[in-house]
Amino acid sequence: MSVQPAQKPAGAPLLQVKNLQTHFAVGGMVAKAVSGVSFDLHKGEVLGIVGESGSGKSVTALSLIRLIPDPPGKIVGGEVIFNGQDLLKMPIEDVRKIRGRDIGMIFQEPMTSLNPVFTIGKQVMEPLLFHEKLSKAEARNRAIEALAGVGIPDAARRLDDYPHQFSGGMRQRVMIAMMMVCNPAILIADEPSTALDVTIQAQVLELMLDLRRKREGAAIILITHDLAVVAETCDRVLVMYGGKVQEASTVVDLFENPMHPYTRGLMKSIPHAQDKGKRLTAIRGNVPSIFDLPDGCKFCTRCPDVMDRCWTVEPELREVTPGHWVRCHLTEDKK
Ligand code: SF4
Repeated sequence: MSVQPAQKPAGAPLLQVKNLQTHFAVGGMVAKAVSGVSFDLHKGEVLGIVGESGSGKSVTALSLIRLIPDPPGKIVGGEVIFNGQDLLKMPIEDVRKIRGRDIGMIFQEPMTSLNPVFTIGKQVMEPLLFHEKLSKAEARNRAIEALAGVGIPDAARRLDDYPHQFSGGMRQRVMIAMMMVCNPAILIADEPSTALDVTIQAQVLELMLDLRRKREGAAIILITHDLAVVAETCDRVLVMYGGKVQEASTVVDLFENPMHPYTRGLMKSIPHAQDKGKRLTAIRGNVPSIFDLPDGCKFCTRCPDVMDRCWTVEPELREVTPGHWVRCHLTEDKK
């Protein structure tokens, strides 16, 4: 079942994810980190994937471009269709050619992606030399442009510096320059601004959204635990919990009419100006271990509305109103 937007955009989706399943085997136990996730990503769209740590959102993103460490991880099922081809069935060398050129990924901590022993210039030039086969001089000029474009002052000189000579915010900008230098069709950003100061966060998000101006039809998948970021930047959103999509809709619809108790809990935990002085409402309990998920609804151990059947029968993801999908027994009689 592929989650669709309410107003289906014209043309084929840029990316189709069908029934994606990624498991981790550790110590004789199997964790279903991603369990049957499906969605379409359309041209020009910003799709948010939101959820707490351990909900499966980052594993979903890493699975799309085959970056799951195997072992202990394994993509055990599903399809990821891009340009008419299933990325999960392609030889890994072909997927490497797509990464960076067609699909870029920005991580929360840029030091995990920047190599500390190479200069910034070498790392920003690499995708241009590898994918676009530019000469070194051309690649250097494009790298200078890319760094200047993300607001690195004195970019030509800083090309010869190493990652440790940049602040955290500047490293994240370099990472964005690296991922956007080839103007990919899809940018996947996993908590790209979480580790940054609030003032820098907004700038980093703005730089990413700029990709849509540079490449017509480019789309972004933004993974975050922060619903406020989703509200500001995304067109559509998937709410994940227990390795599954629990609710999916346009951002406007989600904020006007959140239907899943988990989504409502996430919303109550966002600070609002009018609630100044009041305590924020936290979702009770903790995210269950992916090695020990409940048999029924994955949220039943924390849900304020839990009913008897929730413990044993897992609800289906159903389209409750046009383009608004919910996985909860409470909504079963709504349509
Ligand atoms: Fe809560 Fe039951 Fe709905 Fe799950 S199915 S979210 S436990 S009411």
